Order: sequence, then C-alpha cells, then structure tokens
Amino acid sequence: MSKRDYYDVLGVAKGASADEIKKGFRKKAKELHPDRNKDNPDAESQFKEANEAYEVLKDAEKKAAYDRFGHAAFENGMGGGGRPGAGFGSGDFSSAFSDVFDDLFGDFMGGQRGGGGRRAARGSDLRYNLRVSLDDAFAGMQKTINVPTAVSCSACDGTGAEGGVEPVTCPTCSGMGKVRAQQGFFTVERTCPTCSGLGQIIKNPCKVCQGAGRVEKDRALSVNIPAGVETGTRIRLAGEGEAGMRGGPPGDLYIFVEVAQHELFERDGVNLYCRVPVSMANAALGGSIEVPTIDGGRGRVQIPAGSQSGRQMRLRGKGMPALRGGGVGDMFIELAVETPVNLTSRQKELLREFEDLSEDNNPEGKTFFSSVKSFWDGMKG
Ligand SMILES: [Zn+2]
Ligand SMILES: [Zn+2]
Repeated sequence: MSKRDYYDVLGVAKGASADEIKKGFRKKAKELHPDRNKDNPDAESQFKEANEAYEVLKDAEKKAAYDRFGHAAFENGMGGGGRPGAGFGSGDFSSAFSDVFDDLFGDFMGGQRGGGGRRAARGSDLRYNLRVSLDDAFAGMQKTINVPTAVSCSACDGTGAEGGVEPVTCPTCSGMGKVRAQQGFFTVERTCPTCSGLGQIIKNPCKVCQGAGRVEKDRALSVNIPAGVETGTRIRLAGEGEAGMRGGPPGDLYIFVEVAQHELFERDGVNLYCRVPVSMANAALGGSIEVPTIDGGRGRVQIPAGSQSGRQMRLRGKGMPALRGGGVGDMFIELAVETPVNLTSRQKELLREFEDLSEDNNPEGKTFFSSVKSFWDGMKG
C-alpha cells in the first residue's frame, strides 16, 4: 500500500506554514475523536496516519527532509529523523489520543492536564467557621482570626531542598507525575507514588519541613466582615489558604459565616422582627412605646387605640443593611397585649365596673364574651 502524501493527510497545501499544519491536524484530530467515531472502524488508522504526518511536518528538520525526498526520507534512516511517529505506534489508541489532545488543546479538554513535569502543587483551600453576633453582622467588623495552616518553609524558601539543591526528575515516572498500568482493556493512570505527582524528587530534603517546602503554623489573619452578612455568607481570602507544595501557589481561605440568634430580634433577610409587650390599657387607649433598635439606639412607635395582640407596626430603615447592592431593611414590631395579673382589689373592682359598662356599651351583645354567655344561658334555659 503506498503512503498518502502527508500534506494531503492533514488537508493542507504543500509548503503550508507551521501554524496551518497545526490547525490542519487539530481539525483532523477533532473529526477523528474516538467519542465521535464509535461506528467508524477506520478512525483509529486514520488518526494514526494524521498523527504520523503531523509528527513529521511539525518538525522543521523532518519537514525539510520530507519536502526533499518524500516518504523515502524516513526509510533506511535517511534524513536523520528516525521513524516518524515513534513512541506512538503500538500504544493504546485512546490514551495516545488523550496525550495528543493534552498537548494540542491543553485546557480545552477540561483542564485536566495531569501532573506532567509539574513540580509545584497548589495548596489546599481552607474553611474557617466564624460565628458573629447579629449586632456585628449589622455593623460589620474587623476581626482577627487564628488559622492553623501550612505556610511556606522559611529554612528552604519553600523549595523543600536542603541548601537550595535543585530537585531531580522522579525516576519512577520520568517526571510525568503519573504512572500507567494496564488493567484488562483499560489503561489506568495513577498519581506517581514516589513523587506524589510532582514529577520531581529531592535528594537532600530540608530538615525543617522534611522536603514538603511548608510547615504547620498558626497564622493570625485580620478579616474584614462586611455589614449585612448572613448565616451561609462565604468570604474568600485569595491566597490565604495552605501554602503550596515546594513553592506552589497557595490555596484560598473561605470564611463561612454563622450569625448567632439574637435575644430580641428575629431576622428574615434584611428585615428584623420583634415582639413588644404592651399593657392592655395602652393597647386599648393608644399611645406610643419606645423600642430598642439594632443600631443600639431606640425608636418610637405609635400604637393606634384599640390595637389587638399580633398587630404589626413598621419602623422604616431600622432593619439590616443589604450585603450587596446597598439598601436597608425595616424593623417590624409585633404587639403582644398583656393581660394584667396580680390585681389589687381596687383594680379588680375597676375591671368589674369596666366589664359592666362594656355590656351596657354593647346592648346587642356584640362582644365575644357576652355572646358566649348568652349562648350558654340559652342552653341552660
Ligand atoms: Zn514520580
Ligand atoms: Zn524546608
């Protein structure tokens, strides 16, 4: 079988630029992706053909040889290019494919570039639970917290190596950071056990950090808690998480806020609710009451005459500040009318008189009490 022209294989013109060649191969690779070609038995061989063509044409030296001698350039060791596509031919198709995709598309494939030659791992994100009072959530606050975390080792400057000796390529994985094992039909990739995926090992690890490049330490951090935080609010402090391994970038610190119950106020979003006891006389006659507000001051609300228990009044702008977008909520005051207890005989006398007057005042028996009374009287009769 005679070999197809490499330029034809990639669908590019003879003398195409390196960029055009790369684009041509990308296009072919996408077309021939195993996921898209479950019913195309030729996809694998077509992909191998394209890969072989690309291996030659992307390499300036091999390309020059191919342009001069054609396929003959790679027979009998001519052209000094070795076998095109070397290191690929017999391998597992899908894993070879994913290598090519990694190489070509990088993040395009979901960003899982693996640990190939990566020497520094990013530190973990940390979570810190912070409980604040409703008053602090209202005003916002600056708080110093102590976070136990891993920080960069100062003895080795985070490199993990004693005396600044450079790390060497991991012999187990040849710097790939991962190892492959054949498991039946599948090729399974695992993080390299020798270097934990870093791709490099340190011959003389730093004595302070045992080569990790970081040490455990309590770190005091000053955190700005913005006004209006709620239970569930997350505050991200970029770069304040764990230090990376061997000089890698640090993770982030997430502060999870929990707002404690207040003894007076119930919160619903930006609004506050509270129950205020009022005397029976006050509720009946009307008047005004003074209530504490979350800002530490006091507010005055008018009680209309004849207010029933459960009636709600609003104090505008006395709620919580909104965390985003500004604005302030309201405070709602619910009246709890109190029945008087521990009456003196004089008070009892007055209440009885009051009751008699009430019946006179409602000759048609409209009060609830008198209608119940007449109902029972009717039953007895
Ligand atoms: Zn390794
Ligand atoms: Zn160290």
